Amino acid sequence: MAEDTITHFSHPGHELVKRHYTGPFGCVMCWERLSGAAYGCRAGCDFAIHDACAGHPQTLTSPSHHPHQLVLVETRRDVTHGCDVCAGRCAAGCFLYRCPPCGFDMHPRCAKLPPAVRSVRHPEHDLALVVAEGRCAACHAMHGAGARAWLYRCNVCNLDLHVSCAAAEGPEDAENGHFPGAGDDGLGLDIRGELLRSRIAAQSHMATAVAMRNAGWSLANLICELLVPLKMRTVLVAQSHNFHRSICL
Ligand SMILES: [Zn+2]
Ligand SMILES: [Zn+2]
Ligand SMILES: [Zn+2]
Ligand SMILES: [Zn+2]
Ligand SMILES: [Zn+2]
Ligand SMILES: [Zn+2]
Repeated sequence: MAEDTITHFSHPGHELVKRHYTGPFGCVMCWERLSGAAYGCRAGCDFAIHDACAGHPQTLTSPSHHPHQLVLVETRRDVTHGCDVCAGRCAAGCFLYRCPPCGFDMHPRCAKLPPAVRSVRHPEHDLALVVAEGRCAACHAMHGAGARAWLYRCNVCNLDLHVSCAAAEGPEDAENGHFPGAGDDGLGLDIRGELLRSRIAAQSHMATAVAMRNAGWSLANLICELLVPLKMRTVLVAQSHNFHRSICL
């Protein structure tokens, strides 16, 4: 049988091949556990991505979520973001749909929420997705007066839950899971492995920069987004700086 291979912007330069995963592997895009079919790097990098995550478009125009075009980019590992749609936390280093000038961040999965769900927090009735003022019955977080949020609402009981609070499995489950390579930024790898990782990170930053430039982001945003974590090695910094220069001039 022919191999199922794809190329993907999150891992430029290497083909990805569909494999069957078991054990403690994480998806580079959502940082949740992989089990079953997913795409891994054919060249042997520590890289794997869910089938569904590989299908998210790199840019997204969705006025119901945000008035500006969003770009799916890798986030820094030393900064955590909150999702503006589900109000849940985002694992540091995961990919998010972002509009940095506005500070808007969204999980890829939150771009396509089901219009109705059942939640263990309110199992009696179906909950309908609404964008409205409301107070979450689970975490009781207040939004500013007149502020609208994405909520799952029970119209029978007049009860609202944040999308993340309605989810049976919250994002914290993913954060507690083991993800190979997470948080070490290459420390502890041998030199060749580290250089490879740095090169891949630099390539992915470049792909990100091109996407951001195409989306019309300003140079200031590009530089801010491309600043690399301190722990990363000089090679990555040098490559990124060269790239800055090449896109600035
Ligand atoms: Zn994933
Ligand atoms: Zn690779
Ligand atoms: Zn979300
Ligand atoms: Zn915006
Ligand atoms: Zn809540
Ligand atoms: Zn109800």
